Amino acid sequence: MSRVYNFSAGPAVLPEEVLRAAAEEMMDYKGSGMSVMEMSHRSKVYDTIIKEAEADLRELMNIPDNYKVLFLQGGASQQFAMIPMNLMKHKKAAYIVTGQWAKKAYQEGQLYGEAVKVASSEDETFSYIPDCSDLDIPEDADYVYICENNTIYGTKYKTLPNTKGHTLVADVSSCFLSEPVDVSKYGIIYGGVQKNIGPAGVVIVIIREDLITEDTLPGTPTMLKYKTHADADSLYNTPPAYGIYICGKVFKWIKKMGGLTAMKQHNEEKAKILYDFLDQSSMFKGTVRKEDRSLMNVPFVTGDKDLDAKFVKEAEAAGFVNIKGHRTVGGMRASIYNAMPKEGVEKLVAFMKKFEEEN
Ligand SMILES: *Cc1c(COP(=O)(O)O)cnc(C)c1O
Repeated sequence: MSRVYNFSAGPAVLPEEVLRAAAEEMMDYKGSGMSVMEMSHRSKVYDTIIKEAEADLRELMNIPDNYKVLFLQGGASQQFAMIPMNLMKHKKAAYIVTGQWAKKAYQEGQLYGEAVKVASSEDETFSYIPDCSDLDIPEDADYVYICENNTIYGTKYKTLPNTKGHTLVADVSSCFLSEPVDVSKYGIIYGGVQKNIGPAGVVIVIIREDLITEDTLPGTPTMLKYKTHADADSLYNTPPAYGIYICGKVFKWIKKMGGLTAMKQHNEEKAKILYDFLDQSSMFKGTVRKEDRSLMNVPFVTGDKDLDAKFVKEAEAAGFVNIKGHRTVGGMRASIYNAMPKEGVEKLVAFMKKFEEEN
């Protein structure tokens, strides 16, 4: 068996310890005589899996009692519609557009009401987070929407926007569990798990209870009402059962590593190694305004397309894979999620140094 250093933006690297434990339990989960993939989601043994996963997540994020945790399907993209369908009571919402995912959510919001773009960083290829301290937010907006960590562009909000009393809704797909958060500041925090938590197919929605109502937009399908899933503890229909099981294992791994405070420290150390190198390199340059840099996704360029391509190719041959940047930014992007070991980043930087010397 040989494992690579996987810098993919998602689906992405998972802790080896978790993968090994899942492999060991594959044929016979804890004496049940079957794999978690094969068992009823109504069984007692599965009930323990999903309840423990929720309890561990609640503990990790210190989720207040007046919030529900929902394990849903449809990916983060399904939430782009589900949020307005459930929350746009006044048919108006404010969107801060800081990248492609925020833009997609904003465009989807337009299908259901008036989605108002209150700030954007598109003028400079989304390379910064706009000043959100005093935005012109419509009085009757039902929520203010952000994408907290911009996976493609490598920016992250260091302070949350001033929503002027409006409900904050945040897509945290690519920074989920990467650092402590104050859940009480949000109405909804949600994310697809395939970036930092588990296998694709699960989206976790943490939602304040007062936002869960029958009063959804007309025609909202039963499956797209938060209430349906909240009332049934995420077991209205068959949930993405195996994916939730892996998420639960990752929650336990994070707890063992010391929780979100330790994760943040670990992530800051890793990101510093890469950013410090980029700041002194004469070949590689970071593409993001320094104060807005993400701890998770680090885009960089050489400024020469051919040299970028050569780097990507040689990096791959050396075992650093999925490092090609998004086509809208070009160059490279190293995603260094929770499960990327520090050693992976150190070795990548050593490789970059060598490449710089040789080219
Ligand atoms: C990957 C990603 C998405 C899309 O996730 P899907 O699960 O593929 O729908 C949305 N938002 C952010 C921030 C992402 O990184």
